[in-house]
Amino acid sequence: MSDIHDTATELFTELTGRTPDGLWSAPGRVNLIGEHTDYNDGFVLPFAIPHRTVAAVGVRDDGIGRVRVASTFAAEPVEVALDELGTLFPTLRQAQGPSSQGKPAVPEWAAYPLGVAWALAEAAGAAGAGIDIAIASDVPVGAGLSSSAAIEGATASALNDLWNAGLDKTALARIGRKAENEAVGAPTGIMDQMASMLGEPDAAIFLDCRSLEAQLVPLGVAEAGLAILVMDTRVKHAHSTGGYGERRAACERGAAIMGVPSLRDVSVGDLSRAETLMDDVTFRRVRHVVTENQRVLDTVRVLREQGARAIGDLLVASHASMRDDFEISVPELDTAVEAALSAGALGARMTGGGFGGAAIALIEADAVATVSDAVNAAFAASGFAAPHLFTVTPSAGAQRDA
Ligand code: ADP
Ligand code: MG
Repeated sequence: MSDIHDTATELFTELTGRTPDGLWSAPGRVNLIGEHTDYNDGFVLPFAIPHRTVAAVGVRDDGIGRVRVASTFAAEPVEVALDELGTLFPTLRQAQGPSSQGKPAVPEWAAYPLGVAWALAEAAGAAGAGIDIAIASDVPVGAGLSSSAAIEGATASALNDLWNAGLDKTALARIGRKAENEAVGAPTGIMDQMASMLGEPDAAIFLDCRSLEAQLVPLGVAEAGLAILVMDTRVKHAHSTGGYGERRAACERGAAIMGVPSLRDVSVGDLSRAETLMDDVTFRRVRHVVTENQRVLDTVRVLREQGARAIGDLLVASHASMRDDFEISVPELDTAVEAALSAGALGARMTGGGFGGAAIALIEADAVATVSDAVNAAFAASGFAAPHLFTVTPSAGAQRDA
């Protein structure tokens, strides 16, 4: 058990005066390659990281059908009736019309675990007993490492067990996504939740986001004498606002112009025709998604045939596509990628939704200090706040820990 498990247990006891029935955890993730392809029915290749969110959870002994949630992230716990969950969230309120307006909204952070409780109760047919949840985490928040999927995965795993819902990991990933889309109002795809649920040590998850078929692909980073360095720029991103929704809309527009259900159905060979049919911005959005899908397929093949040492150029090409065609990078991410490459990284790219967050670099295992120094120096020279630099190894997905 880690410090995070102890912290969650202590918070639970502070909240309830009891000990929890159990501890469940789920990790954040790094996406090795395949960005903004998930909601286009395409391919992604993420892996779970060692950083985890822990939920200490217990069934309430007062027989009252309420759910209470506390987090070290938040000053105050939030408590609501289980049968009121569906009226709490903005997007649900809109769908239900004026009669449900005026109900108290919950703070945004609480919409993640409470949204999971709502979505899981729907999927299982009914909510189970009243429940208390205490959350602690060491996943950096808003850094593009998916603290959101980690809190969803930990909560969903706990409620699945304590409510005897019997749902499998893919179903729990869908529940996390539904909470994030409909309770929080962030229009994200399924990648983060699948990575957090299905992660395995030493493997990436090659996921077809159309069928949700997942294959584990051994990464062999350490065996190749390499390491993956995360470079968190500390520029916070927010998926529920701004450019993320605009990018999704551009992808839908591009697919409609091409006459296909989603950009998954457009291949690299179709791009010259696409260019004649749409405006420049829409075309560049389309070109990113179409080439990125191909890069994921190429990365999986190269990993299997040649190993991790050979994927660097694909990572570099992915970053250039996000910077120039999808336009979701920021100067801090570009600086991190360029500094790492100049210091000898085999490949580097921003990871996650963009507009801030983190980049990754594939480096020699004995070059962590050299590359870190170079990235720190480049940030200082540009007048950026110091980045947060750490290595990650592919780790286990959501599980019950105690
Ligand atoms: P990312 O997933 O990249 O970290 P998101 O914006 O998708 O960024 O999710 C971050 C949000 O998730 C936080 O602002 C907060 O609302 C919620 N969240 C994440 N971890 C926790 C936690 N341990 N406790 C409470 N809320 C959390
Ligand atoms: Mg997130």
